[in-house]
Amino acid sequence: MRPVTGERELRGVAVYPDIVIGKAHLIDRSRVKILYQCFVNGEELDREVERFKEAVHTVEDQFVSLKRKMPDKVKDQSFILDSHLMILKDGMLYDSTVKTILKEKINAEWALKKSLEEIREVFEQIDDEYISNRISDVENVTERLLRTLSGDTGQSLGEIDQRVIIVAHDLSPADTTELNTARVMGFITDVGGKTSHTAIMAQALEIPAVVGLESATALVEDGDLLIVDGSSGVVVINPDDSAIIHYQEKKLQLQKYKSSIARTSHLPAETPDGCRVAITANIEFLEEVTAAKDYGGEGIGLYRTEFLYLRGKGFPEEEDLFDDYREVVEIMNPAPVTIRTLDLGGDKFASEIAISGESNPALGLRAIRFCLREPEIFKAQLRAILRASLYGKIQLMFPMISGLQELLDAKQILEQVKEELDRDNIEYDTNMEVGIMVEIPSAVAMAEVLARHVDFFSIGTNDLIQYALAIDRINEHVAYMYEPFHPAILRMIRQVVKAARDAGIEVALCGEMAGDPLCVSILLGNGIDRLSMNARSIPLIKKMVRTIPMKQAKADLKKIMALNTAKEVRAYILEGTKRMFPELEEKGYLLD
Ligand code: PEP
Ligand code: MG
Repeated sequence: MRPVTGERELRGVAVYPDIVIGKAHLIDRSRVKILYQCFVNGEELDREVERFKEAVHTVEDQFVSLKRKMPDKVKDQSFILDSHLMILKDGMLYDSTVKTILKEKINAEWALKKSLEEIREVFEQIDDEYISNRISDVENVTERLLRTLSGDTGQSLGEIDQRVIIVAHDLSPADTTELNTARVMGFITDVGGKTSHTAIMAQALEIPAVVGLESATALVEDGDLLIVDGSSGVVVINPDDSAIIHYQEKKLQLQKYKSSIARTSHLPAETPDGCRVAITANIEFLEEVTAAKDYGGEGIGLYRTEFLYLRGKGFPEEEDLFDDYREVVEIMNPAPVTIRTLDLGGDKFASEIAISGESNPALGLRAIRFCLREPEIFKAQLRAILRASLYGKIQLMFPMISGLQELLDAKQILEQVKEELDRDNIEYDTNMEVGIMVEIPSAVAMAEVLARHVDFFSIGTNDLIQYALAIDRINEHVAYMYEPFHPAILRMIRQVVKAARDAGIEVALCGEMAGDPLCVSILLGNGIDRLSMNARSIPLIKKMVRTIPMKQAKADLKKIMALNTAKEVRAYILEGTKRMFPELEEKGYLLD
């Protein structure tokens, strides 16, 4: 029996700044009951091991299939499912469970439970909130295995087809990807923190959510009316009329704020003291071009071209590439489109490309290195880009340039392709600009030399942070160290901008930093010419640029550059941003 009647308020961790009011739908994600069984006979034990291995296979297939079906919005987060796949086969879980079954002569469920307890003990000794929170990933994987072993796979969240708010003890990231976002209005959970993958997933899917409520499943009943305020972390169970009116008003204010930003998104990003910054969009698919325009993008600053190669239908023909590039360029014309040549490898693989057996793919045959090794694949893409350049303004960009020789080699192939086109009387824009991503520390060191050979730089902070700080960007165990405010990164950005300024070329920045409200002032102060980001971030970043005077950004940057740790930099920036944009904190935009 529920101990309360009437309205009750719970507080948890706010995940995505929006408010929903709707009916609760309880999901039974309670832990599976585990029975202890002991065996004496070897055959029975072999069967237990086999049963465990089969469950691992089944769950593996489920994760692979969920990953394949992930909505585009959350494709960036597919590493979460990769990490689940890794956990499945991790020695501490897999080998140790098999060993325990055989050694202690017990059933697979009990052995698995023991493995989880051992892993939990290891995690508990880690004095870091982010890492210790990652135990929830191991728990999610174990839970799925236990359900599979017990034959109880529970309700599939993909089947929920009503306008409801999900209430669950925990939702794994895999559960979250399954949600029918067109129907499910939001979710709340007992467990979870702001860095949990479920929270990250909710943000990517733009679902209002509050996690870490501790007792939501105990206090909420199926069909209860709920208010979920994803901006403050408040959940109201069975609200009275005044609470409903209050939150409806708050939702209205939040929507008004969002649309007030959206309404001005077509205005240029010019600081109050008259400095103009170009704001462009990053896209991965042709379909995103319209959104880029709608959100006020002044061009495409990064077209990641891997998608057509990753569809798993063989390599795209030059003609398919040409059609795709031409359409993007025509839609954006006269605004510029920066097409980045193929960046396969690292965490992006095409099944047709055998870059196998690399123990360190991020440091392996990736991006331009791969293209220089496979000139025919590279040339087909360059031909398509050059041919499309007639239909608008294309800027060509090479990724992962580590030094001058690599750039010269890439440019030489580009020249060969131009000669071939000339020979075939095929026209292209002979003035097409050529630039590079600066995303490897050696390119930063060589920036002043490289700047003399290109028309523009685009700083790729996603990789620059990875390589400069030695933090694998897809390894969640070190994600807490992935720090854009590290003074080393700020120094590198400054060095690249200076090299570009001295050579008189444009410098853009297209990593995630560009769309982060906390980074705007630093990037402005550095004098970056163009910021390229996820289209959704454009309206807010433009508004911020229109509010921060360049003089102030420069003065702040000077103070920031005197700070020696990322923690100090972050605290300084957070304080300044809250002071200047109090509504951002209030409306839940500064979740960090
Ligand atoms: C980067 O590295 O910052 C970048 C924009 O490229 P990607 O994220 O595609 O590696
Ligand atoms: Mg990169």
